[in-house]
Amino acid sequence: MALRKIRTIGDEVLNKPCKPVKEITPRIKTLIEDMTDTMYEADGVGLAAPQVGVLKQIVVIDVGEGPFVMVNPRVVETSGEQTGNEGCLSVPGKTGQVTRPNYVKVVAFNEDMEQVEIEGTELKARAMLHEIDHLAGKLYVDKVEGELMDVEPVEV
Ligand code: ZN
Repeated sequence: MALRKIRTIGDEVLNKPCKPVKEITPRIKTLIEDMTDTMYEADGVGLAAPQVGVLKQIVVIDVGEGPFVMVNPRVVETSGEQTGNEGCLSVPGKTGQVTRPNYVKVVAFNEDMEQVEIEGTELKARAMLHEIDHLAGKLYVDKVEGELMDVEPVEV
């Protein structure tokens, strides 16, 4: 298991558009594994490659149904609307209300470079859209309605 450093807001790598992946090399496979480990270690539901400093179109997500990868994802359909609190591993300690589609369909490639179609609703749709935004250099903080709030520290 190899963890990568999560870049935080203010790091310009988070504001740059990512390049598409041309082929799955051993290096890309390792990156996907490391991103998945890093996401779990940080207790996140998703992580995009720029968050670990790599400007490639790769996302890993696990909303509690097992991990999946989206390489070069493209949103092909959205519908409905959901409003809820969102957070980001690159914006630690903060949360804010964001409205997004309630349903999304994405065409992407998996870790074997096979084309896949992935649908999501509610949290899964929110996570998919949040992570795909990262690949365009966009952070959720620019979509927050009202104030960005502090997350209460967890009492242990
Ligand atoms: Zn994020």
